[in-house]
Amino acid sequence: MSLAILEVWGGAGEHGRACYRIANGPVSVMLDCGGKRSGRGEYPLWKPELVPQLTTVFLSHAHEDHTVGLPALYRMGYRGEIWTTRATATRIASNFRMWKGYLAEQGSAAPYSAEEEELLRFRYLEDSAEEGEWFEAAPGVRACWGPSGHLAGSVWILLDIEGCRVFYSGDYTHESSLLRAELPKPEYCRNLSAAIVDAAYGARTESQAEMMAQLIGTIRQVSERGGHVFLPVPLHGRGLELLALLREALPDTRIVAEASLLQGAAKIKEDEAWLHPSAIERMNLALRGLQTSPFNEAPSGLAMSGAPAVIIGPDAQLQTEGAQACYRQLNRGENAVSNAIIFTGHVHSGSCASKIIARHEADPEHGHCSVYRIPYKVHQGLPDVWRMLEHLNPRVLLPVHTDKEKTDRLVSELASRGYSGAHSLTPGQTLILTAEAEYEREYR
Ligand SMILES: [Zn+2]
Ligand SMILES: [Zn+2]
Repeated sequence: MSLAILEVWGGAGEHGRACYRIANGPVSVMLDCGGKRSGRGEYPLWKPELVPQLTTVFLSHAHEDHTVGLPALYRMGYRGEIWTTRATATRIASNFRMWKGYLAEQGSAAPYSAEEEELLRFRYLEDSAEEGEWFEAAPGVRACWGPSGHLAGSVWILLDIEGCRVFYSGDYTHESSLLRAELPKPEYCRNLSAAIVDAAYGARTESQAEMMAQLIGTIRQVSERGGHVFLPVPLHGRGLELLALLREALPDTRIVAEASLLQGAAKIKEDEAWLHPSAIERMNLALRGLQTSPFNEAPSGLAMSGAPAVIIGPDAQLQTEGAQACYRQLNRGENAVSNAIIFTGHVHSGSCASKIIARHEADPEHGHCSVYRIPYKVHQGLPDVWRMLEHLNPRVLLPVHTDKEKTDRLVSELASRGYSGAHSLTPGQTLILTAEAEYEREYR
């Protein structure tokens, strides 16, 4: 009987440092190797003696919570390849830079040198197989990939390791307005031992359409009372989606985008393979008549004078001077109470964004601008995980990418709907997978 193990080195029961090792006999595979913005920067709970023996490594996408531990694998003696996409490889450097900025702020440093960063050896999935088709990634490892809708170049990976099939969603959403997402062919998912699935929104049930209606309603309200709205977003990802959607939903509202976001918009054509057919045309429409205001020159002066505006700027955590200056400007003068800041994504603990939210929650009437949290979905909640479950039908489901409490709630929701194969794990735990219907759970 084929017996495989799935080790969680990071990323389950928490947000950050995604890292999973799957081994079947002498063949072992790693999925992602990221960092976590907590304290001095946390890395996966790696077992250094196992790293040199890895058969191969897969990388789902460029975000730091999936990538910044990779050079440490080479420090520990790994000399193999990292399977990913070209679009991911081109985005890695900027994510490493932002991670190092965070480490420096914490008085910390990466556990590897700049030379070791150069050792990363990528192989490109799209050069070896068509989307959705099997190929031999390494001896004993067959793999299949497809777009995951989360970021240009982001993929899911389906593995067949000596007969043991495991699906890894990476970060996934089927509700992106610009990016494509396709699941593997149903016949490839038969007899699936396990699925590691993005469940960052836990048991939340809202659809993207509901979240967007809430966001647009809030922006309208703020505009009607004469206030500006600041939307801090990550440099890569949902900023461009919001730009396109808001332009369409609010054609008469003044939208101001920070200059560096527009560089991303200009490059979108390079990522055509990852986009819905209408995406480039919609982006071009969104850019027409758009105002830009570089944070580093005259901090948002252009945005703050004149008619109520929606200001979209990079830095979702508000850690940079430019984003902080924009927030300070919102809080200046008599109009401050009319203005609003809306956070649309995950906020790291200890960040300036989390402090603004905490202060607002403690004293909502403190006379500053309003603070809202309205997620734009780039991950999955309960209905999305269920949809994936119905398609994949795995014997074991590992929902990941959120804290233990939210994972527990999701697992019990899934059980009440009739699926009892879901497990809420934390880093350091291992699942034993079998090719048959039985499996055991082991705690370490
Ligand atoms: Zn991500
Ligand atoms: Zn992630």
